[in-house]
Amino acid sequence: TVAVVLFTADLRLHDHPPLRAALASADEVVPLFVRDTGIDAAGFGAPNRRAFLADCLRDLGAGLRERGGRLVIRSGDVVAEVCRVVSETGAGDIHLAAGVSAYARRREERLRRALDSGGARLHVHDGVVTAVAAGAVTPAGSDHFAVFTPYFRRWSAERVRDAFGAPRAVPVPDGPGSEEVPVRAGVPGVSAGLAEGGETQARKRLTAWRLHGLTAYEDRHDDLPGDATSRLSPHLHFGTLSAVELIQRARAAGGAGADAFVRQLCWREFHHQVLAARPAAARLDYRTRHDHWRSEADAADEIEAWRQGRTGYPVVDAAMRQLRHEGWMHNRGRLLTAGFLTKTLYVDWRIGARHFLELLVDGDVANNQLNWQWMAGTGTDSRPNRVLNPVLQAKRYDPDGDYVRRWVPELAALAGPAVHEPWKLRGAERARFEYPAPVVELADGLARFKRARGLD
Ligand code: FAD
Repeated sequence: TVAVVLFTADLRLHDHPPLRAALASADEVVPLFVRDTGIDAAGFGAPNRRAFLADCLRDLGAGLRERGGRLVIRSGDVVAEVCRVVSETGAGDIHLAAGVSAYARRREERLRRALDSGGARLHVHDGVVTAVAAGAVTPAGSDHFAVFTPYFRRWSAERVRDAFGAPRAVPVPDGPGSEEVPVRAGVPGVSAGLAEGGETQARKRLTAWRLHGLTAYEDRHDDLPGDATSRLSPHLHFGTLSAVELIQRARAAGGAGADAFVRQLCWREFHHQVLAARPAAARLDYRTRHDHWRSEADAADEIEAWRQGRTGYPVVDAAMRQLRHEGWMHNRGRLLTAGFLTKTLYVDWRIGARHFLELLVDGDVANNQLNWQWMAGTGTDSRPNRVLNPVLQAKRYDPDGDYVRRWVPELAALAGPAVHEPWKLRGAERARFEYPAPVVELADGLARFKRARGLD
Protein backbone atom coordinates (compact mmCIF):
# COMPACT_ATOMS: atom_id res chain seq x y z
CA THR A 1 0.00 0.00 0.00
CA VAL A 2 1.05 3.57 -0.67
CA ALA A 3 0.34 6.77 1.28
CA VAL A 4 1.08 10.36 0.30
CA VAL A 5 2.40 12.92 2.78
CA LEU A 6 1.72 16.42 1.52
CA PHE A 7 4.29 18.76 3.10
CA THR A 8 3.18 22.39 3.53
CA ALA A 9 4.28 24.49 6.53
CA ASP A 10 6.04 21.50 8.11
CA LEU A 11 9.25 20.99 6.11
CA ARG A 12 11.00 18.65 8.52
CA LEU A 13 11.55 15.00 9.34
CA HIS A 14 11.73 15.28 13.14
CA ASP A 15 8.48 15.28 15.09
CA HIS A 16 6.29 14.99 12.02
CA PRO A 17 2.97 13.29 12.86
CA PRO A 18 1.67 12.99 9.26
CA LEU A 19 4.86 11.23 8.13
CA ARG A 20 4.82 8.96 11.16
CA ALA A 21 1.17 8.02 10.59
CA ALA A 22 1.82 7.34 6.91
CA LEU A 23 4.84 5.13 7.65
CA ALA A 24 2.87 3.21 10.27
CA SER A 25 0.00 2.39 7.94
CA ALA A 26 1.51 1.98 4.46
CA ASP A 27 4.40 0.03 2.90
CA GLU A 28 5.59 2.98 0.89
CA VAL A 29 5.23 6.73 1.25
CA VAL A 30 5.38 9.56 -1.29
CA PRO A 31 6.78 12.70 0.41
CA LEU A 32 5.25 15.36 -1.80
CA PHE A 33 5.75 19.09 -2.00
CA VAL A 34 3.71 21.12 -4.46
CA ARG A 35 4.96 24.54 -5.50
CA ASP A 36 1.44 25.83 -5.39
CA THR A 37 0.76 28.42 -8.05
CA GLY A 38 -2.17 29.61 -5.92
CA ILE A 39 0.24 30.89 -3.23
CA ASP A 40 2.18 33.04 -5.69
CA ALA A 41 -1.08 34.25 -7.21
CA ALA A 42 -2.19 35.35 -3.73
CA GLY A 43 0.97 37.46 -3.45
CA PHE A 44 2.73 35.32 -0.86
CA GLY A 45 5.70 34.25 -2.95
CA ALA A 46 8.08 37.05 -1.86
CA PRO A 47 11.76 36.56 -2.83
CA ASN A 48 13.16 36.06 0.68
CA ARG A 49 10.63 33.37 1.48
CA ARG A 50 11.09 31.71 -1.91
CA ALA A 51 14.86 31.59 -1.34
CA PHE A 52 14.48 30.24 2.20
CA LEU A 53 11.97 27.69 0.90
CA ALA A 54 14.48 26.52 -1.70
CA ASP A 55 16.97 25.84 1.13
CA CYS A 56 14.29 23.97 3.06
CA LEU A 57 13.38 21.74 0.12
CA ARG A 58 17.01 20.95 -0.67
CA ASP A 59 17.61 19.96 2.93
CA LEU A 60 14.40 17.94 3.17
CA GLY A 61 15.38 16.11 -0.03
CA ALA A 62 18.83 15.36 1.38
CA GLY A 63 17.34 14.07 4.65
CA LEU A 64 15.00 11.77 2.74
CA ARG A 65 17.83 10.45 0.56
CA GLU A 66 19.81 9.56 3.71
CA ARG A 67 16.81 7.46 4.66
CA GLY A 68 16.58 5.66 1.37
CA GLY A 69 13.83 7.89 0.02
CA ARG A 70 13.47 11.03 -2.04
CA LEU A 71 11.31 14.15 -2.17
CA VAL A 72 8.78 14.48 -4.97
CA ILE A 73 8.37 18.10 -6.06
CA ARG A 74 5.63 19.25 -8.43
CA SER A 75 4.33 22.65 -9.54
CA GLY A 76 0.76 23.64 -10.23
CA ASP A 77 -2.57 23.65 -8.47
CA VAL A 78 -2.03 21.71 -5.26
CA VAL A 79 -5.26 19.70 -5.48
CA ALA A 80 -4.71 18.70 -9.10
CA GLU A 81 -1.13 17.61 -8.35
CA VAL A 82 -2.10 15.53 -5.32
CA CYS A 83 -4.78 13.79 -7.39
CA ARG A 84 -2.24 13.13 -10.13
CA VAL A 85 0.22 11.54 -7.68
CA VAL A 86 -2.61 9.48 -6.17
CA SER A 87 -3.56 8.10 -9.57
CA GLU A 88 0.08 7.46 -10.55
CA THR A 89 0.78 5.47 -7.36
CA GLY A 90 -2.61 4.06 -6.39
CA ALA A 91 -2.24 5.71 -2.96
CA GLY A 92 -5.19 5.17 -0.63
CA ASP A 93 -4.32 7.65 2.12
CA ILE A 94 -3.14 11.25 2.08
CA HIS A 95 -1.70 12.85 5.20
CA LEU A 96 -1.52 16.58 5.77
CA ALA A 97 -0.93 19.03 8.65
CA ALA A 98 -3.96 21.14 9.64
CA GLY A 99 -3.59 24.79 8.64
CA VAL A 100 -5.34 27.87 10.00
CA SER A 101 -5.46 30.45 7.21
CA ALA A 102 -8.47 30.77 4.93
CA TYR A 103 -6.25 29.49 2.13
CA ALA A 104 -5.18 26.40 4.05
CA ARG A 105 -8.76 25.65 5.09
CA ARG A 106 -9.96 25.90 1.51
CA ARG A 107 -7.13 23.64 0.38
CA GLU A 108 -8.24 21.03 2.91
CA GLU A 109 -11.85 21.20 1.77
CA ARG A 110 -10.97 21.03 -1.90
CA LEU A 111 -8.66 18.07 -1.28
CA ARG A 112 -11.29 16.26 0.73
CA ARG A 113 -13.87 16.65 -2.01
CA ALA A 114 -11.52 15.68 -4.82
CA LEU A 115 -10.15 12.65 -2.99
CA ASP A 116 -13.53 11.42 -1.72
CA SER A 117 -14.80 11.09 -5.24
CA GLY A 118 -11.75 8.95 -6.10
CA GLY A 119 -12.06 6.77 -3.01
CA ALA A 120 -8.89 7.97 -1.23
CA ARG A 121 -8.91 9.17 2.38
CA LEU A 122 -7.57 12.51 3.63
CA HIS A 123 -6.07 12.58 7.13
CA VAL A 124 -5.61 16.07 8.58
CA HIS A 125 -3.27 16.13 11.60
CA ASP A 126 -3.36 18.59 14.49
CA GLY A 127 -0.32 19.36 16.63
CA VAL A 128 1.96 19.87 13.62
CA VAL A 129 1.90 23.60 12.82
CA THR A 130 0.79 24.67 16.29
CA ALA A 131 1.12 22.68 19.51
CA VAL A 132 -2.47 23.24 20.57
CA ALA A 133 -4.94 23.04 17.70
CA ALA A 134 -6.71 26.29 16.83
CA GLY A 135 -10.17 26.07 18.39
CA ALA A 136 -9.19 23.32 20.85
CA VAL A 137 -9.59 25.71 23.79
CA THR A 138 -12.34 28.31 23.79
CA PRO A 139 -13.82 30.61 26.43
CA ALA A 140 -17.48 30.30 27.45
CA GLY A 141 -19.72 31.75 24.79
CA SER A 142 -17.17 32.29 22.00
CA ASP A 143 -15.33 30.31 19.35
CA HIS A 144 -11.94 31.86 20.17
CA PHE A 145 -10.02 33.83 22.77
CA ALA A 146 -9.85 37.56 22.03
CA VAL A 147 -7.56 38.32 24.99
CA PHE A 148 -4.10 36.84 25.41
CA THR A 149 -3.77 36.34 29.18
CA PRO A 150 -6.79 34.08 29.69
CA TYR A 151 -5.81 32.19 26.54
CA PHE A 152 -2.30 31.72 27.91
CA ARG A 153 -3.73 30.33 31.14
CA ARG A 154 -5.95 27.78 29.37
CA TRP A 155 -3.32 26.95 26.76
CA SER A 156 -0.74 26.29 29.49
CA ALA A 157 -3.04 23.73 31.06
CA GLU A 158 -3.50 21.79 27.81
CA ARG A 159 -1.63 18.51 27.46
CA VAL A 160 0.95 18.76 24.68
CA ARG A 161 1.95 15.45 23.10
CA ASP A 162 5.55 14.20 23.41
CA ALA A 163 7.90 15.18 20.60
CA PHE A 164 9.64 12.39 18.70
CA GLY A 165 12.60 11.99 16.34
CA ALA A 166 13.01 11.51 12.61
CA PRO A 167 12.19 8.11 11.03
CA ARG A 168 15.11 5.78 10.20
CA ALA A 169 13.90 4.88 6.73
CA VAL A 170 11.37 6.32 4.31
CA PRO A 171 10.64 3.83 1.51
CA VAL A 172 9.37 5.70 -1.55
CA PRO A 173 7.83 3.89 -4.54
CA ASP A 174 9.48 4.13 -7.95
CA GLY A 175 7.48 6.05 -10.41
CA PRO A 176 6.19 9.45 -9.40
CA GLY A 177 8.53 11.84 -11.15
CA SER A 178 9.88 14.98 -9.53
CA GLU A 179 11.01 18.36 -10.70
CA GLU A 180 14.49 19.56 -9.84
CA VAL A 181 14.83 21.06 -6.37
CA PRO A 182 14.66 24.86 -6.74
CA VAL A 183 17.84 26.70 -5.79
CA ARG A 184 18.16 29.89 -3.83
CA ALA A 185 20.63 31.31 -6.34
CA GLY A 186 17.86 31.33 -8.92
CA VAL A 187 15.65 33.72 -6.93
CA PRO A 188 16.11 37.43 -7.78
CA GLY A 189 15.74 40.25 -5.26
CA VAL A 190 16.82 38.35 -2.13
CA SER A 191 18.11 40.29 0.92
CA ALA A 192 21.91 40.17 1.16
CA GLY A 193 21.89 39.08 4.80
CA LEU A 194 19.13 36.46 4.58
CA ALA A 195 19.63 33.48 6.91
CA GLU A 196 19.95 29.96 5.55
CA GLY A 197 16.89 27.73 5.65
CA GLY A 198 16.40 24.02 6.17
CA GLU A 199 15.95 21.57 9.01
CA THR A 200 19.70 21.06 9.47
CA GLN A 201 20.18 24.79 10.10
CA ALA A 202 17.10 24.85 12.32
CA ARG A 203 18.44 22.09 14.53
CA LYS A 204 21.84 23.75 14.81
CA ARG A 205 20.20 26.99 15.84
CA LEU A 206 17.99 25.16 18.33
CA THR A 207 21.01 23.53 19.96
CA ALA A 208 22.91 26.83 20.17
CA TRP A 209 19.80 28.52 21.57
CA ARG A 210 19.32 25.89 24.29
CA LEU A 211 22.98 26.15 25.30
CA HIS A 212 23.57 29.89 25.06
CA GLY A 213 20.33 31.85 24.73
CA LEU A 214 17.36 30.42 26.58
CA THR A 215 18.43 31.05 30.18
CA ALA A 216 18.94 34.79 29.65
CA TYR A 217 15.87 35.25 27.41
CA GLU A 218 13.68 36.94 29.98
CA ASP A 219 16.27 39.60 30.75
CA ARG A 220 17.57 40.11 27.24
CA HIS A 221 14.67 39.69 24.81
CA ASP A 222 14.22 43.45 24.43
CA ASP A 223 17.93 44.22 24.07
CA LEU A 224 17.97 45.61 20.52
CA PRO A 225 21.76 45.72 19.94
CA GLY A 226 22.29 42.48 21.86
CA ASP A 227 20.15 40.56 19.37
CA ALA A 228 19.48 37.97 22.02
CA THR A 229 16.23 36.39 20.83
CA SER A 230 16.16 32.93 19.27
CA ARG A 231 15.73 33.96 15.60
CA LEU A 232 13.78 30.74 15.23
CA SER A 233 10.76 32.48 13.63
CA PRO A 234 11.59 31.53 10.01
CA HIS A 235 12.00 27.93 11.12
CA LEU A 236 8.65 27.99 12.86
CA HIS A 237 7.07 29.60 9.80
CA PHE A 238 8.35 26.91 7.44
CA GLY A 239 8.02 24.19 10.04
CA THR A 240 11.66 23.14 9.92
CA LEU A 241 11.28 23.07 13.70
CA SER A 242 8.22 21.84 15.50
CA ALA A 243 6.46 24.09 18.00
CA VAL A 244 5.70 21.01 20.10
CA GLU A 245 9.38 20.11 20.33
CA LEU A 246 10.36 23.68 21.23
CA ILE A 247 7.74 23.91 23.96
CA GLN A 248 8.61 20.51 25.40
CA ARG A 249 12.32 21.26 25.43
CA ALA A 250 11.87 24.69 27.01
CA ARG A 251 9.56 23.25 29.66
CA ALA A 252 12.07 20.53 30.43
CA ALA A 253 14.85 23.12 30.81
CA GLY A 254 12.69 25.22 33.18
CA GLY A 255 13.53 28.59 34.75
CA ALA A 256 12.47 32.17 34.10
CA GLY A 257 14.07 32.35 30.63
CA ALA A 258 12.33 29.20 29.45
CA ASP A 259 8.99 30.34 30.91
CA ALA A 260 9.22 33.67 29.10
CA PHE A 261 10.12 31.88 25.86
CA VAL A 262 7.14 29.51 26.11
CA ARG A 263 4.89 32.50 26.73
CA GLN A 264 6.19 34.04 23.49
CA LEU A 265 5.52 30.81 21.61
CA CYS A 266 2.01 31.01 22.98
CA TRP A 267 1.58 34.41 21.31
CA ARG A 268 2.09 32.61 18.03
CA GLU A 269 -0.62 30.08 18.91
CA PHE A 270 -2.91 32.84 20.16
CA HIS A 271 -2.75 34.67 16.83
CA HIS A 272 -3.28 31.42 14.95
CA GLN A 273 -6.48 30.67 16.86
CA VAL A 274 -7.75 34.21 16.25
CA LEU A 275 -7.12 33.90 12.52
CA ALA A 276 -8.68 30.44 12.35
CA ALA A 277 -11.88 31.81 13.88
CA ARG A 278 -11.79 35.16 12.03
CA PRO A 279 -10.05 34.56 8.68
CA ALA A 280 -11.17 37.99 7.45
CA ALA A 281 -8.89 39.60 10.06
CA ALA A 282 -6.10 39.10 7.53
CA ARG A 283 -7.68 42.01 5.62
CA LEU A 284 -10.32 43.72 7.74
CA ASP A 285 -10.15 45.40 11.14
CA TYR A 286 -10.69 42.81 13.85
CA ARG A 287 -12.25 45.58 15.95
CA THR A 288 -13.32 48.77 14.28
CA ARG A 289 -12.12 52.05 15.76
CA HIS A 290 -13.79 53.99 12.95
CA ASP A 291 -10.44 55.04 11.57
CA HIS A 292 -10.11 57.07 8.42
CA TRP A 293 -6.51 56.06 7.83
CA ARG A 294 -4.23 58.00 5.56
CA SER A 295 -3.79 56.03 2.38
CA GLU A 296 -0.93 55.57 -0.07
CA ALA A 297 -2.21 58.61 -1.99
CA ASP A 298 -2.52 60.78 1.14
CA ALA A 299 0.92 60.10 2.56
CA ALA A 300 3.08 58.82 -0.30
CA ASP A 301 6.32 60.57 0.72
CA GLU A 302 6.08 59.63 4.37
CA ILE A 303 5.25 56.01 3.55
CA GLU A 304 8.21 55.82 1.18
CA ALA A 305 10.53 57.38 3.80
CA TRP A 306 9.34 54.72 6.24
CA ARG A 307 9.91 51.90 3.77
CA GLN A 308 13.39 53.14 2.90
CA GLY A 309 14.46 53.81 6.51
CA ARG A 310 14.70 57.58 6.00
CA THR A 311 12.08 58.96 8.42
CA GLY A 312 14.64 61.00 10.34
CA TYR A 313 13.98 58.93 13.49
CA PRO A 314 17.19 56.89 13.77
CA VAL A 315 15.81 53.88 15.63
CA VAL A 316 12.88 53.55 13.21
CA ASP A 317 15.24 53.83 10.26
CA ALA A 318 17.70 51.32 11.75
CA ALA A 319 14.96 48.73 12.14
CA MET A 320 13.55 49.32 8.64
CA ARG A 321 17.02 48.91 7.17
CA GLN A 322 17.59 45.72 9.15
CA LEU A 323 14.37 44.41 7.61
CA ARG A 324 15.56 45.19 4.10
CA HIS A 325 19.04 43.79 4.65
CA GLU A 326 18.17 40.59 6.51
CA GLY A 327 14.53 39.90 5.73
CA TRP A 328 14.09 39.84 9.48
CA MET A 329 13.63 42.41 12.23
CA HIS A 330 13.90 42.30 16.01
CA ASN A 331 10.51 42.22 17.74
CA ARG A 332 11.12 45.55 19.49
CA GLY A 333 11.91 47.03 16.06
CA ARG A 334 8.69 45.60 14.63
CA LEU A 335 6.70 47.11 17.47
CA LEU A 336 8.12 50.56 17.15
CA THR A 337 8.16 50.77 13.35
CA ALA A 338 4.58 49.51 13.14
CA GLY A 339 3.54 51.94 15.88
CA PHE A 340 5.28 54.77 14.07
CA LEU A 341 3.51 54.08 10.78
CA THR A 342 0.04 53.55 12.20
CA LYS A 343 -0.03 56.04 15.03
CA THR A 344 2.57 58.74 14.46
CA LEU A 345 1.96 58.85 10.68
CA TYR A 346 -1.62 57.53 10.98
CA VAL A 347 -1.22 55.34 7.89
CA ASP A 348 -3.42 52.30 7.26
CA TRP A 349 -1.91 49.20 8.93
CA ARG A 350 -2.50 47.17 5.75
CA ILE A 351 0.12 49.26 3.93
CA GLY A 352 2.72 48.43 6.56
CA ALA A 353 1.69 44.79 6.79
CA ARG A 354 2.08 44.44 3.02
CA HIS A 355 5.60 45.88 3.11
CA PHE A 356 6.56 43.52 5.93
CA LEU A 357 5.17 40.56 3.98
CA GLU A 358 7.22 41.55 0.95
CA LEU A 359 10.43 41.28 2.97
CA LEU A 360 10.01 39.16 6.09
CA VAL A 361 11.41 35.65 5.78
CA ASP A 362 9.07 34.66 8.62
CA GLY A 363 6.20 36.65 7.02
CA ASP A 364 3.11 34.87 8.19
CA VAL A 365 -0.55 35.76 7.74
CA ALA A 366 -1.50 35.04 11.34
CA ASN A 367 1.50 36.59 13.07
CA ASN A 368 2.02 39.50 10.74
CA GLN A 369 -1.53 40.71 10.17
CA LEU A 370 -2.60 40.25 13.77
CA ASN A 371 0.50 41.85 15.23
CA TRP A 372 -0.03 44.78 12.87
CA GLN A 373 -3.62 45.03 14.05
CA TRP A 374 -2.43 44.82 17.64
CA MET A 375 -0.11 47.79 17.10
CA ALA A 376 -2.73 49.73 15.13
CA GLY A 377 -5.18 49.27 17.99
CA THR A 378 -7.69 47.48 15.77
CA GLY A 379 -6.69 44.05 17.06
CA THR A 380 -6.63 42.32 20.42
CA ASP A 381 -4.66 44.90 22.42
CA SER A 382 -6.67 46.00 25.44
CA ARG A 383 -4.98 49.43 25.24
CA PRO A 384 -5.69 50.26 21.58
CA ASN A 385 -4.70 53.93 21.85
CA ARG A 386 -1.23 53.48 23.34
CA VAL A 387 1.42 55.34 21.34
CA LEU A 388 5.08 54.35 21.51
CA ASN A 389 7.45 57.31 21.49
CA PRO A 390 10.36 56.22 19.26
CA VAL A 391 12.89 58.41 21.07
CA LEU A 392 12.01 57.08 24.51
CA GLN A 393 11.89 53.54 23.10
CA ALA A 394 15.33 54.03 21.57
CA LYS A 395 16.85 55.33 24.82
CA ARG A 396 15.37 52.44 26.72
CA TYR A 397 16.13 49.52 24.39
CA ASP A 398 19.26 50.83 22.68
CA PRO A 399 20.71 52.93 25.53
CA ASP A 400 24.16 53.46 24.02
CA GLY A 401 22.94 53.76 20.43
CA ASP A 402 24.85 50.72 19.15
CA TYR A 403 21.87 49.31 17.22
CA VAL A 404 21.37 52.60 15.40
CA ARG A 405 25.04 52.97 14.51
CA ARG A 406 25.06 49.39 13.13
CA TRP A 407 22.25 50.09 10.66
CA VAL A 408 22.50 53.84 10.01
CA PRO A 409 26.15 54.34 9.06
CA GLU A 410 25.62 58.03 8.22
CA LEU A 411 25.32 58.59 11.97
CA ALA A 412 28.15 56.27 13.04
CA ALA A 413 30.35 59.19 14.11
CA LEU A 414 27.81 60.23 16.76
CA ALA A 415 28.81 58.60 20.04
CA GLY A 416 26.45 57.36 22.73
CA PRO A 417 22.73 58.04 22.99
CA ALA A 418 23.07 61.38 21.16
CA VAL A 419 22.67 59.28 18.01
CA HIS A 420 18.96 59.00 18.79
CA GLU A 421 18.32 62.74 18.44
CA PRO A 422 20.45 64.16 15.62
CA TRP A 423 18.10 67.14 15.31
CA LYS A 424 19.48 68.44 18.61
CA LEU A 425 22.89 69.08 17.07
CA ARG A 426 23.79 72.67 16.31
CA GLY A 427 23.48 73.90 12.69
CA ALA A 428 26.97 73.43 11.28
CA GLU A 429 27.53 70.20 13.16
CA ARG A 430 24.24 68.82 12.02
CA ALA A 431 24.95 69.67 8.41
CA ARG A 432 27.92 67.29 8.53
CA PHE A 433 25.56 64.34 8.64
CA GLU A 434 23.70 63.43 5.50
CA TYR A 435 20.67 62.30 7.36
CA PRO A 436 17.10 63.51 6.83
CA ALA A 437 15.14 65.77 9.17
CA PRO A 438 12.16 64.08 10.89
CA VAL A 439 9.23 63.52 8.50
CA VAL A 440 6.87 64.70 11.23
CA GLU A 441 7.14 66.20 14.71
CA LEU A 442 6.13 63.60 17.28
CA ALA A 443 3.79 66.07 18.99
CA ASP A 444 1.98 66.76 15.71
CA GLY A 445 1.65 63.06 14.97
CA LEU A 446 0.26 62.43 18.43
CA ALA A 447 -2.23 65.28 18.16
CA ARG A 448 -3.49 63.99 14.79
CA PHE A 449 -3.90 60.48 16.18
CA LYS A 450 -5.79 61.72 19.24
CA ARG A 451 -8.11 63.77 17.06
CA ALA A 452 -8.71 60.81 14.77
CA ARG A 453 -9.61 58.57 17.68
CA GLY A 454 -11.66 61.23 19.43
CA LEU A 455 -9.33 61.32 22.44
CA ASP A 456 -8.82 65.06 22.82
P1 FAD B 1 11.74 35.03 19.97
O1 FAD B 1 11.66 36.22 20.84
O2 FAD B 1 12.90 34.13 20.13
O3 FAD B 1 10.38 34.24 20.19
C1 FAD B 1 10.26 32.84 19.89
C2 FAD B 1 9.11 32.60 18.93
O4 FAD B 1 7.88 33.02 19.53
C3 FAD B 1 9.19 33.39 17.65
O5 FAD B 1 10.05 32.75 16.73
C4 FAD B 1 7.75 33.43 17.22
O6 FAD B 1 7.37 32.23 16.55
C5 FAD B 1 7.00 33.49 18.52
N1 FAD B 1 6.67 34.90 18.81
C6 FAD B 1 7.38 35.79 19.52
N2 FAD B 1 6.71 36.96 19.62
C7 FAD B 1 5.57 36.81 18.93
C8 FAD B 1 4.46 37.66 18.67
N3 FAD B 1 4.37 38.92 19.11
N4 FAD B 1 3.46 37.17 17.91
C9 FAD B 1 3.52 35.91 17.43
N5 FAD B 1 4.52 35.06 17.66
C10 FAD B 1 5.53 35.50 18.41
N6 FAD B 1 6.29 36.91 13.74
C11 FAD B 1 6.32 36.01 12.75
O7 FAD B 1 6.68 34.86 12.97
N7 FAD B 1 5.93 36.36 11.48
C12 FAD B 1 5.52 37.60 11.16
O8 FAD B 1 5.16 37.87 10.01
C13 FAD B 1 5.52 38.59 12.19
N8 FAD B 1 5.15 39.86 11.93
C14 FAD B 1 5.13 40.79 12.96
C15 FAD B 1 4.70 42.08 12.69
C16 FAD B 1 4.66 43.05 13.71
C17 FAD B 1 4.18 44.44 13.40
C18 FAD B 1 5.05 42.68 15.01
C19 FAD B 1 5.00 43.68 16.13
C20 FAD B 1 5.46 41.39 15.28
C21 FAD B 1 5.51 40.42 14.28
N9 FAD B 1 5.92 39.09 14.53
C22 FAD B 1 5.92 38.17 13.51
C23 FAD B 1 6.16 38.63 15.90
C24 FAD B 1 7.62 38.73 16.41
O9 FAD B 1 8.12 40.01 16.19
C25 FAD B 1 8.53 37.70 15.75
O10 FAD B 1 7.96 36.42 15.83
C26 FAD B 1 9.90 37.66 16.44
O11 FAD B 1 10.49 38.92 16.40
C27 FAD B 1 10.77 36.63 15.76
O12 FAD B 1 12.05 36.63 16.32
P2 FAD B 1 12.56 35.42 17.22
O13 FAD B 1 12.31 34.13 16.53
O14 FAD B 1 13.97 35.72 17.58
O15 FAD B 1 11.61 35.55 18.46
